[in-house]
Amino acid sequence: MYQTTINDKLIFSGRGLHSGEFVKAELFPALPDNGITIRRADIPGTKPVKLTPFNVISTVLATTVYCGNYKVSTVEHLLSALYGLGIDNVHIDVYGEELPILDGSASAYVDQIKNVGVKQLKKKRKYLKFTKKIRLEKGDKWIEIIPSRYFKVTFGINFENSIINEQKKFITVTPNTYLKEISRARTFGFKEEVEQLWKMGLARGGSLENAVVIDRNRILNEDGLRYDDEFVRHKILDLIGDIALLGYRFYGHIRAYKSGHELNNAFARTLLESKSCYKVIELSDQFSFNPYETLVFEPQGT
Ligand SMILES: [Zn+2]
Repeated sequence: MYQTTINDKLIFSGRGLHSGEFVKAELFPALPDNGITIRRADIPGTKPVKLTPFNVISTVLATTVYCGNYKVSTVEHLLSALYGLGIDNVHIDVYGEELPILDGSASAYVDQIKNVGVKQLKKKRKYLKFTKKIRLEKGDKWIEIIPSRYFKVTFGINFENSIINEQKKFITVTPNTYLKEISRARTFGFKEEVEQLWKMGLARGGSLENAVVIDRNRILNEDGLRYDDEFVRHKILDLIGDIALLGYRFYGHIRAYKSGHELNNAFARTLLESKSCYKVIELSDQFSFNPYETLVFEPQGT
């Protein structure tokens, strides 16, 4: 029920998905109510900007945010790891136009965060407790939230491809389930689409090192999949990253079908704006807890 940050500074570096260039991000512990702030540290004079769903300026291929007058791309996997592990306050210094793509999942982020550990702060969290259903649709895609005493996600996808096909996954999101069931799922793409992107000068850093690549009925990665349904799990990873921009933990069950960054971001904006559909609450002290348990996204007992 108390806010958290990381115990120590963390550094992540590697190729960027878009540029293929070497990029670096440094994460710093932050004070209560800081939320997630980001700064283009490679540009002199830039100030930290607190991220909200309204900072998102592009959802093509990845989620891109504006911080000041400069952009940072591919923020969703780091944001997903932070939210998934229950971390509320962090400052991110970015050297470059995007975060490193690493292995295409949140695995490196969660491993390093686990290594330094999570620190509990002295100020209470504010939670959004959704009391009414909110739904958005676009074509055959939809996403909705219904009241729940937990943070749950149900996600469905349907591809006309024999490797992916129809996949559906339900999860009650806690740091433990996030770590085990979601964090290692990699992003994915089709060989012909990747080749098309390369021709357009996009996704220059994309490779079998950081994505599952499908060629018709075959997975090109030698080691195959990390989970049988890795595709839908990565969609949940992305959704958690996009929803992390809310800046609040919440109680509710998000159900989505074929949703992606664009609809996820529109949904995050709509959630914040739908003030008649939620209450902002703090949890009372009568919940007993140990430091580790504060990491777990516990159901509320009301
Ligand atoms: Zn992703």
